Amino acid sequence: MKEIYYTPRHYSAIELWKDVTEQEWQDPQWQMKNAIRTVDQLKKIIKLNAYQVAEIERTITTLQQQGKEPFRMTPYYASLMQADPFHPKMLEGEKEEKRLDPIFWQSVPTPAHLLFPDTGVEGAMSEGSRSYGAAYQRYPNRVALFVAENTSCAAYCQHCQRSKSLDGSVDVNSTMINRGLFYISQNPNINEVLVTGGDALMISKHRLQFILEELSSIPHLRVIRIATRVPVVMPMGVTDEVLELIKKSAN
Ligand code: SF4
Repeated sequence: MKEIYYTPRHYSAIELWKDVTEQEWQDPQWQMKNAIRTVDQLKKIIKLNAYQVAEIERTITTLQQQGKEPFRMTPYYASLMQADPFHPKMLEGEKEEKRLDPIFWQSVPTPAHLLFPDTGVEGAMSEGSRSYGAAYQRYPNRVALFVAENTSCAAYCQHCQRSKSLDGSVDVNSTMINRGLFYISQNPNINEVLVTGGDALMISKHRLQFILEELSSIPHLRVIRIATRVPVVMPMGVTDEVLELIKKSAN
């Protein structure tokens, strides 16, 4: 077996969370309430020089002025970053030059995001180009069903194709979801549905149960996928209750 070359810091070794109890840390609600949103918080977790602080700050401020929500990171996910993300520990034989900690890279807004401000806004899955209600069909047999507010994700991924529209303007209501379900039920060529958002595991349990039960009752569906980053960015959110709900409602 290969040797593990990097072990993340325990959260209590990080100044910002040194007084946090294990119970708080394992609580998804605590994780969401204490999400990292500012450079001031970030620099208590990782090493940044004055220039890096200023550039990240400039990026966040510019995007906020455009009405966007550019930065959200759960404490759990932030604790996985290497202490010096611009000089990450490398595998033996790899060159450190120009490497960046991958979790920093996918989570922290950097000035590259300001270069093409409108890219992705008019993307194929944007709200104006849906097939019917909350359903968007890109492939003959597969449909994406949008079920969440676009700011509902536990953490914001900088690589997200929807990240340019993370501005709180889209809340998929139940009418849209019902229309999407109707569209799927009336198209027997569809055998796969991606339940997505935002993050589909961040919606209310009631809504998730309703959607999974409705989809499960459509005879031509073979696959229901739940699009979520919760297992990665906030694994304490995947509770027995959630797993039981999925098991009961989707079969
Ligand atoms: S959780 Fe999904 S929808 Fe949300 S920012 Fe990340 S990739 Fe985009």
